[in-house]
Amino acid sequence: MVLLVTSGAVAKAPPFIAAALCMVLLVTSVAVAKAPPFEQLSKAAVLSGKFAAEDHPELRKRGPFYIRGDVWERYKALKACARDPACSGLKRPMGIVTCSMFRGYRQQKNRWLGEMKERRGRFRLEIDRVDNILRYLALPGTSRHHWGTEVDLAWNRQCMMSNHQYMSAEENTRRCDRSNARCLAKGISPKICRQRDRFCWRRVGPGVKFYNWLRDNAGRFGFCQPYKGYPEERHGPLFTRGYEPERWHWSSCCEARRNLNAIAKLLDQVVPPPADVFGRQPMRIKGKREALMEVHQTVVVDAVRQHIFNIHAECLTCAVDCGD
Ligand SMILES: [Zn+2]
Repeated sequence: MVLLVTSGAVAKAPPFIAAALCMVLLVTSVAVAKAPPFEQLSKAAVLSGKFAAEDHPELRKRGPFYIRGDVWERYKALKACARDPACSGLKRPMGIVTCSMFRGYRQQKNRWLGEMKERRGRFRLEIDRVDNILRYLALPGTSRHHWGTEVDLAWNRQCMMSNHQYMSAEENTRRCDRSNARCLAKGISPKICRQRDRFCWRRVGPGVKFYNWLRDNAGRFGFCQPYKGYPEERHGPLFTRGYEPERWHWSSCCEARRNLNAIAKLLDQVVPPPADVFGRQPMRIKGKREALMEVHQTVVVDAVRQHIFNIHAECLTCAVDCGD
């Protein structure tokens, strides 16, 4: 209807206004063509978050976030238990704060490219920037947050999502020793390596009790930690890469495992295009474009596979009966 009215208006309008109206029509039809109805999206598009959250039939809006309805029910039960000393076994009620849930492709891409830009001064090569960001942030299209099954949790509204905040003194010492050894292995001086981690002096993190309770109890409610422990320890020599520990990140095991099984068959379709990894600008530079395409083929494609599948075994087995 709107289109018909606008078409009539184009025919009657003076030439320059008609041209402007045609542009509007063109832009509108391109925008319409870019967003097919949710039911027409491929499985790979859905798994990589290429849709508007409000269009997904299983996602529900809860506060500022979207999450799958069934995952929300599990999460609500977990939160209720933590608040109730009779259920939690804690002396006092423990609050759980949600820091992130569903994230779409565009949101992840913007965040990713923002991190790439921020590292321009520190890392000369694009591939080194990619490696550095991949310690914690997923490439667009490959984040478990696209599935609506993941929650990032903290004990207060500041959402201080750094591992040392959730660690005991011993755990933090081990974390520091590991990062120091990795730094030295790169041939960097001991003095510089020591300065790299500002948080190695800290003792017990304020979120250690919070984390320990989740570690011991979240399984009962169907949650698991995909990025538990260090990546090299999750499956031994099977993987050489993977995300660093993320003590704030929890998965609804059954729903996430179904998505993981589905994505295994569609892996080549969820790898983001080079422009979404390195940014449009570098891809436009002649000579550089070819070099980056090569890096994309040889390194990024493999990194996607390793980062998606190098998850802790507790998210492969699931502590609850998934009925599948
Ligand atoms: Zn997360």
